[in-house]
Amino acid sequence: EPDPSSAPAGPSSAPPAIRARGLEKRYEGGRITALYDLDLDVAQGEFVAICGPSGCGKSTLLNMLSAIDRPDAGRIEVCGQDVADLSSREADLFRTLTVGLVFQLHNLLPNLTALENVQVPMMAAGLAPGERVSRAGALLDCVGLGDRAAALPPVLSGGERQRVAIARALANRPRVLLADEPTGALDSKTGDRLFDLLAELQRDLHTTLVVVTHDAAIAARAGRVLHMLDGRIDTQSS
Ligand code: ADP
Repeated sequence: EPDPSSAPAGPSSAPPAIRARGLEKRYEGGRITALYDLDLDVAQGEFVAICGPSGCGKSTLLNMLSAIDRPDAGRIEVCGQDVADLSSREADLFRTLTVGLVFQLHNLLPNLTALENVQVPMMAAGLAPGERVSRAGALLDCVGLGDRAAALPPVLSGGERQRVAIARALANRPRVLLADEPTGALDSKTGDRLFDLLAELQRDLHTTLVVVTHDAAIAARAGRVLHMLDGRIDTQSS
């Protein structure tokens, strides 16, 4: 049981996990508007699903929130840190320490075992080898792959690889987990199990979850669903 005295503060007293104002992003010399005057607030510990038709700007938004790319205009704070104008070195550090990313193409390193793949972000964070191995082992246990630690990605199933990618995204205990269609390549039963795991993380570690999904069953599990249209948040429902 988690110790209640060490539980993070509730959404009312904590700074927001994400606060974006007036985000704009254009491509191709301004001919394509991917995001337009977008505002977004996500409280710490919230689980928000982002839905919307292809091309409405969902991936662009995740790229802004993870400092993979920067907006043409607007402000973004993630866990109190201003991320719109980070240098590339600062952005790397931000992705290593503050946000975890789970994308559909999980890019596990094929020649490293599951246990080693999970340790990669910990190396970037400068963790000692002993601590890395024990933490990576615990994370694999947590995603139900404790017995597959020595396996190489090519022998794992799609669902197992995606779970290794989630363990890797959690390596440095990020406060915000950003996921882009994390169940896109999985059958519905495996996808459902993945979301059980994410719900546990949210409950036990108070991790903030922002998940782009087309899957209505997944969106139904979110605390709030944001519908995007033409580069903006169109409507939201609880
Ligand atoms: P979604 O994730 O909702 O499918 P995207 O964020 O990928 O939408 O794309 C939003 C819009 O921006 C689309 O019109 C898309 O074609 C365009 N776009 C996205 N990335 C680029 C890019 N690197 N270069 C040019 N256009 C892009």
